[in-house]
Amino acid sequence: MATVEYKSIGKSFGAFNIMRDISFLIEDHQFVVLLGPSGCGKTTLLRMTAGLETVSEGDLFIGGKRVNDMHPRDRDIAMVFQNYALYPTMKVYENIAFSLEVAKQPPAEIKRRVEHAAEILNLTPYLQRYPKELSGGQRQRVAMGRAMVREAAVFLFDEPLSNLDAKLRAHMRTEIRQLHNRLKTTTIYVTHDQIEAMTMADKIVVMRAGKIEQIGTPDDVYDRPASKYVADFIGSSAINFLTGTIVADQGAPAAETKAGLIRLEPSLKLSAGQRVICGVRPTDVTVDPQGSIVARSLLIERMGHEAQLCCEGPEGQFLAIVDKSAHFDERMDVRFSIAPEKVHVFDAATENRV
Ligand code: ATP
Repeated sequence: MATVEYKSIGKSFGAFNIMRDISFLIEDHQFVVLLGPSGCGKTTLLRMTAGLETVSEGDLFIGGKRVNDMHPRDRDIAMVFQNYALYPTMKVYENIAFSLEVAKQPPAEIKRRVEHAAEILNLTPYLQRYPKELSGGQRQRVAMGRAMVREAAVFLFDEPLSNLDAKLRAHMRTEIRQLHNRLKTTTIYVTHDQIEAMTMADKIVVMRAGKIEQIGTPDDVYDRPASKYVADFIGSSAINFLTGTIVADQGAPAAETKAGLIRLEPSLKLSAGQRVICGVRPTDVTVDPQGSIVARSLLIERMGHEAQLCCEGPEGQFLAIVDKSAHFDERMDVRFSIAPEKVHVFDAATENRV
């Protein structure tokens, strides 16, 4: 097992620079998720780690060794791709054994490792089947088995669940995380799905246009998003944003927005007249006849255990998670209150957390 370290990594394709100054450390045993929208550079960073793409600037270390110029084969990594890349004419056993055959491992050792991986991945009954005779989840497990038998120091996953339906994705998330808890192999996992990142990662690296926007635990990025971008990207119900100007309200700061006054934490460093964006998660909004925020109800979406009230605010959609039995007439004004400590305040000019 190994650490992975990026030091001032940059990447250019010809004249196009797509990544700059990426520096962070992945500790031994850690499960790190690279998260960001399409095109932010997460796959390129993973491919550079694997040695499938050259590093244009900076230094890349795996297990303390600089690997910039090292062949992929010598990096002690195993990669699981989005499309699984299984060989259709080989049975499951042969698919899993393939890399060991190429590496000319002794037959008894190959058998031991394949059977061990199959047992951990619940694939033992399927070893004599062809990939086309398997479900999507089983194929995904074969792809993981192929990585596992290599007993590599680092696992790299490139959006491995994006071809699966929602239910199977949720199930495979748990399986991959359980597998990690057992094997503890250092893992880098690329996804654009914030739920995968939140549920699986020890540490999330949020990327934006070839740069790192924030690094932290799932709780860090949810509870203290470093920018409006991160606040917007993380969270199952979209966060509400309200733009306002800082005023003093009974000695404490508040933001005067078009939807009403939002009281803020006194400890925040704010100055009167400053333009800010207040981010408030739908779960942190309370329906309150005395509340200072007003939005107009549009419809209520029932989700079984709770309901989401969709409103129209002065700056567009405003969402609130409400009691499942709540009722609101269409197009009525609803008042909300928000606890000051639940408001994420971003400077309107930089969009960074205050
Ligand atoms: P996705 O989730 O869509 O795969 P991503 O975040 O993984 O997106 P990358 O595939 O790493 O993003 O691409 C990052 C940027 O680099 C994009 O703007 C892409 O167009 C560009 N890029 C990737 N590969 C090449 C290439 N071979 N030549 C030129 N530009 C490339």
